[in-house]
Amino acid sequence: MPIYEYYCDRCKKVSSFLLLRATEEIEPCCKSCNTKDVRRILSRVSILKSEESRMESLLDPSKLSGLDENDPRSMEKLMKRMGREMGDELGEGFEQEMEEAMSEPESTPQEDL
Ligand SMILES: [Zn+2]
Repeated sequence: MPIYEYYCDRCKKVSSFLLLRATEEIEPCCKSCNTKDVRRILSRVSILKSEESRMESLLDPSKLSGLDENDPRSMEKLMKRMGREMGDELGEGFEQEMEEAMSEPESTPQEDL
């Protein structure tokens, strides 16, 4: 079921319209102040989807060339690049956290298999 969202320029509110049938026609208006001075905005669903495809393009195999998953340095570089691409979503502490996660303390016992 398609959901259309309209942003009201007057009261800055968003009105959602749920279409029960694809053929149904709606007359967009603001549910708060009743003005027809509204404009169509992208619903959160479609924003989320574009976020996903951004993630997919980041994980595109052609971009991962030269990546050695057994090499922590190489993985770290990739994660940092993704951190930069994702920007605000991951927050400023992301690189720092990656740094800490990647550098294991020397005292950690490691068994050779
Ligand atoms: Zn309004």
